Amino acid sequence: MAKVLVCKDVGTECNHVIKGQTVEEVMQKAAQHAKEVHGMAQVPAEVVAKVQAAIKDE
Ligand SMILES: [Zn+2]
Repeated sequence: MAKVLVCKDVGTECNHVIKGQTVEEVMQKAAQHAKEVHGMAQVPAEVVAKVQAAIKDE
């Protein structure tokens, strides 16, 4: 089952949707998105926890 993360669920105003086959893949894409779109060079631990909690089964 695919995993999906809506950027807005992490507390942003962003409607970007990240999809992946695994949580790891979504986390990786989310880190890249955070860097490219939100200028987050490094994702803080509390944001990582939020992202993990916000990942849902598609
Ligand atoms: Zn975003």
